[in-house]
Formats: sequence, structure tokens, C-alpha cells
Amino acid sequence: MLTDSGGYQIFSLPHSRSMSEAGAVFQSYLDGKTILLSPEMSIETQKAIGADIMMALDHCVAATADEATARAAMEITERWAQRSLAARGDSPQAIFGIVQGALSPELRRHSVERLAEMPFDGYAIGGLAVGETKCEREDLCEFTAPLLPADKPRYLMGVGTPLDILEAVHRGVDMFDCIMPTQLAQRGGVFTSRGFLQLRRGIYKFAEEKLDPGCACPTCARYSRAYLHHLTKSAETLGWQLLGAHNIYFYHQLMRQIRASIVADRFLEFYRSHRAFLDEPDLDNPIRLQKPKRRRPTALGHYAVHIAREGFASIRHVESGEIMHMRTPPMDEAQQLYVEQSRLAERLRSGDNAEHSKPLVIWDVGLGAAANAMAAIRCYEEQATLGPVRPMRILSFENDLDSLRLALLHSRLFPYLRHAGPPAIADGGAWQSKQFAGLSWQLLEGDFLEMIAAATAAPDAIFYDMFSSKVSADVWTLKAFEKLLTACGDKAAELFTYTCSTSVRVALLAAGFYVAQGRSIGAKVETTIAVTPAAFRSADGARHNFLSFDWIGRWNRSQAKFPAGLLPGQQLAFEQVIREHEQFQSG
Ligand SMILES: [Zn+2]
Repeated sequence: MLTDSGGYQIFSLPHSRSMSEAGAVFQSYLDGKTILLSPEMSIETQKAIGADIMMALDHCVAATADEATARAAMEITERWAQRSLAARGDSPQAIFGIVQGALSPELRRHSVERLAEMPFDGYAIGGLAVGETKCEREDLCEFTAPLLPADKPRYLMGVGTPLDILEAVHRGVDMFDCIMPTQLAQRGGVFTSRGFLQLRRGIYKFAEEKLDPGCACPTCARYSRAYLHHLTKSAETLGWQLLGAHNIYFYHQLMRQIRASIVADRFLEFYRSHRAFLDEPDLDNPIRLQKPKRRRPTALGHYAVHIAREGFASIRHVESGEIMHMRTPPMDEAQQLYVEQSRLAERLRSGDNAEHSKPLVIWDVGLGAAANAMAAIRCYEEQATLGPVRPMRILSFENDLDSLRLALLHSRLFPYLRHAGPPAIADGGAWQSKQFAGLSWQLLEGDFLEMIAAATAAPDAIFYDMFSSKVSADVWTLKAFEKLLTACGDKAAELFTYTCSTSVRVALLAAGFYVAQGRSIGAKVETTIAVTPAAFRSADGARHNFLSFDWIGRWNRSQAKFPAGLLPGQQLAFEQVIREHEQFQSG
């Protein structure tokens, strides 16, 4: 057991100490009491502790101290060294003297000469590792060590890393002390035969290998890097202990090898082979200089991520500036406009009715960033956990998957996409729920009007969420809606769309749909619902707020009276079709 005299410890209390010939006066950090640490009291204390090696009390100054301060400290250290030796008396405990003199070779030489005349059992090079550079320390060590008696141990205080130790041995030092092996262990740092590892790194999370393949310490024998990583990350003191035990073992092993190489007269060879190696960082998992984080593109194809003033994200069509879900978060709008208006939850629940054991088919026209489809899927999943539901199939129509792909790159901004469905649709065009056999989703990629023919089931509900006629004119025409109604066959199908544009409504009417007002959503005062004749005549067909004959009057005054694509010569006939639509006959 080696004890220090307290000189260095007092040096590290710069605000509550004073030095005098008698000793160092400092304030107890426990009760504020003034304590005089004299050389005699220091030795008395070290004797009581039972140290094998005691240190004489020294006066430590910063390595960068000026010449006068360093000289005064060196001189007082000499006088204290004599008093310390005297205080030892006839104790069998060994005592070392401490060489001071800051960075001055002249002072160091003087200090060595004076101390060497005293009958110390060994000599320490003190006052290093206190603010000097590694180079300054090595130079001073190289200068001082050979001056010390060759037949007494030479001790470099407060040093260091394995490489520091190797360098100091090379310069003639025998002994070291340092907090490094245990202090680094507390922070997850370990010296190994594969370099210096920082176990906090995530790379060790699943590393089942030994901490150090070349080490025989108890930690390496028992614990994987992954377990030690876990202990370190969770600040378990067991982690410090295990890593500290390994580090100390590593230091001991290094010193054993150094001694063996000296005895075998092969130290220089050992020094050369270990000099580069001991300073290696993690060899197996090198730390790469972090590349600047690659930013995810905020635009893709015709689309860009848009952050609304309200803080939610949506997708913007770059050329038109049109934004999907302008004033309402995508999922809120999808929920209110499509899921609630179609009474999806209620229709899914009627699964015990024989007629309703057939799948409910949703045509999701304009997949976009998949908000509407995901709202329907969430609704299904919620209902299915509550009780029996009928199967549900979603057919999404989309000719450009870039908006979905862009949103998937930013799933932090589009949290509803954190689901197995959207990536499966983007990658393979189909998704089948693993949890619910009745839930499936299919993509029909291409222009909607052409893809209608590819649909394998007629719709019960249509979520009609295409960009406006400015961007995609052809899907809002009379022809488009005629084709859509034909695809519905004799099904009682309902279509929901965000627009309340008169020209769209008359196109739907002219195509044969029955048209009702949809609810107000966000900034939209009104939306639109269109149903097939079968739905209009069905039991709950009357639940919608169908446009009345009064609406015809407003239509007549409208600027956008006719749907896109209608030739002037067809307008009269078109007007008649609307007036004579069955919807307006009853009122
Ligand atoms: Zn080990």
C-alpha cells in the first residue's frame, strides 16, 4: 500500500489553503475547521494507515509556475523532506522523497541532488501531470529520471495511460499511480488488446463477444460486451467495477510484460512493438468521422413536404401549389370527411348479417400520402378489436407514388404512416394484415380512368380525393363519373369528395349519381356526397341532405355552370338532363 503525503491534495484546494514553513494550512471540507498539515502530522497519519510506502510532504506548484515560485516550493520541499524522514523514526515503513522544480531542469537537478543525499527508500518525480503538455512531461522525465539513484525505485506520480507508462519506463521510471483505469471505467472506457473501447457506443448493444479476446481477467471470462454496454448505459455501479477490474488487470499485465522484457533484455523490442499499438482506438469498430447528416429530401418528383401554419405536415403539389389537406391535419380530414361520413365503423360492425359477410370495398381514388386509406384501416383495426366485423378491402388508385414515398421519408411528420401497410403498398403494391385476415389493401397504379377496368371488385364507398381540376382535369368530367357509375354496377355505393364545386356536382348528376351536401370540414363550408341510384333508393338512402330544386336556381346563376369538357352545343341538352334528374322530381 502506497499513501500520498497530502501535498498534491492540498495543491488541488487552491482557494482554502496557505503554505508556511510549519506546513500547509487548509480548511476541512467537512466542518470548515482549520487544519495544519505539517510533515510530522502527514507521516504520523500515513503510519497510522499502515502504508508500505509513505511519501514525504511536498510543496506542489503548477508545472507552469514562474521560476521564483518554483524555487521557493522546491526549497520548502527539501526542508519538509528532512522533517518527514525524521518523523518516520524507526518505523519499518518505507518512505520516498519527492523531486520538485516545475519545468526547470536546473531546479530539478538541484532538487534531485539534495534529496539523493537523504536516506530515502525511493524517489518520486512530483509536480507533473499538473498542467504541462505530454511532450514537456516526457522531456522532463527523460531529464530527471537518470539523475536519480539507480539502485532506488523511481516513481512518476499521477501517470498515466498505458502508452504514457511505456514511454516513462523507456525513460527510466519504475513505478506509477493513476486514477485513469478506474476513472475511465466509470465512463465506460476500457483498454484492450483490440484498442481502447468506449462501451457506451451503440455498436456494442448486441456484441456477444468477450470484452477483450486477449484478456484472462474475471470480467472478460464472464461478460459480453453487450452486457457491459448495458450496465454502462444504465449507470450500474457493477459496470464500473467490472470495467475497472479489467482495466487494472490490463495495467498489471502490461507491467508484467514490461518487467519480463527488461529481464530478458528485450525491452527496446517490446517498446517498439507496443508503442503504436497501445495508442490504438477501437480496432474492430473504428469510430468513423461523422459525416454531416444527410438531410432527407423534402421534395420528390412533383411533390414537396408542406408544413402548415398550424404545425402539421402535408404534401404539396409543386407545380400547382395545391396542398393535400390544406387547413386540417391529414388524418383529421380523412376521419371526418371519409370515415365518419361513410359511417364506416357502423357498416363494418354489421358483420353478423349474412348479406354483409361480403367484404366492404373501398375505392380510395387518389392515394396521395395514404391518409384516407390509413384512416379507414385504423377504423377497421379499432372495430375488429371490439367485436366481429365484416372483411374490408381497400383499392387505392394512384398514378404517381412519389407523394407517398416522400411522406414515408418523413414519417416523423406523418406519424399515421408508422404502420406495416404504407411501406408494403409503396414497395409491392399490396398489403394483407397479419393481425386481421379480413383486412387487405391493394394498389392500382396508373391513370384512374384506365385502372377502373382493372378493379376486381365494385365499390361500396368511394373516397374521391384527387387533386383539383387544375391539376387533373379528366377525373372531374362527366365522362369520368359516367365510367365510375358504370363500375359501381347495381351496388348501393356512396362517393365522398372534398369539393363543393357546382361544376363537379352537375357532372355527377348528369352521370346519374344523386348528389347531397357533405358536412363542413375545416375551412370547407361544404363538401359533396354522391350516391348511386341503388343507394338513393335503399333504406338509409334518405339520410343524406340531397340537393333540392332550389339548388337548380343557384346553379343557373353560377359562373361555373358546366363541367369541364362539355362542348357549347351540348349545354342545352345538359341543362335539361339536370332539370329532369329524378333527384329533383319529388320536391
Ligand atoms: Zn479483461
